Amino acid sequence: MAIAVYPGSFDPIHLGHMDITRRAAALFDHVYFAIYARPHKNLLFSVEERLRLAREALADLENVSVVSYRELTVDLARRLGAHVIVRGLRAISDFEWELQLALTNRELAPDIEVVCLMTRIEYAFLSSTIVKEVASLGGDIDKMVPPNVARALRERFPLPTSEPAP
Ligand code: ADP
Repeated sequence: MAIAVYPGSFDPIHLGHMDITRRAAALFDHVYFAIYARPHKNLLFSVEERLRLAREALADLENVSVVSYRELTVDLARRLGAHVIVRGLRAISDFEWELQLALTNRELAPDIEVVCLMTRIEYAFLSSTIVKEVASLGGDIDKMVPPNVARALRERFPLPTSEPAP
């Protein structure tokens, strides 16, 4: 069985993440969509919320499980019997960080391969940060995230009242 882990913060999951997951699910027997529960980032959604949003969004993919984790990604992969870590690449700017991560992971666990899948062109601009920024300003996020995430973001960022800026 070829088992892969797709790790990230996923705060929240968006269409770019879903596309990478769907394509990984076609390549591997099983994919663990793994939500890092302790990132050094300011997060909008709790790990429980991120788990729920991702589980709903990926429910149609039978060979994908959504999990959260706190340890090193390579330790998670070993615990789950995975020999592959999947990452997504949008642009050259992602590459440097992904290379650094992949080389670190190789140092820690030479038996685990990192496989990078290129984004689809329509998702090349998408990031969780952009999605949150657009949502916080009342912009249209329907083409960026699945419907359940759009709802959750609208609850977090109710439409601004039209008060003039100070
Ligand atoms: P991080 O691991 O830095 O917290 P994210 O949770 O945002 O990152 O993303 C997890 C993985 O998905 C990373 O490999 C990231 O490069 C990739 N990814 C993010 N957005 C896209 C996108 N629009 N298209 C393809 N891959 C993406």
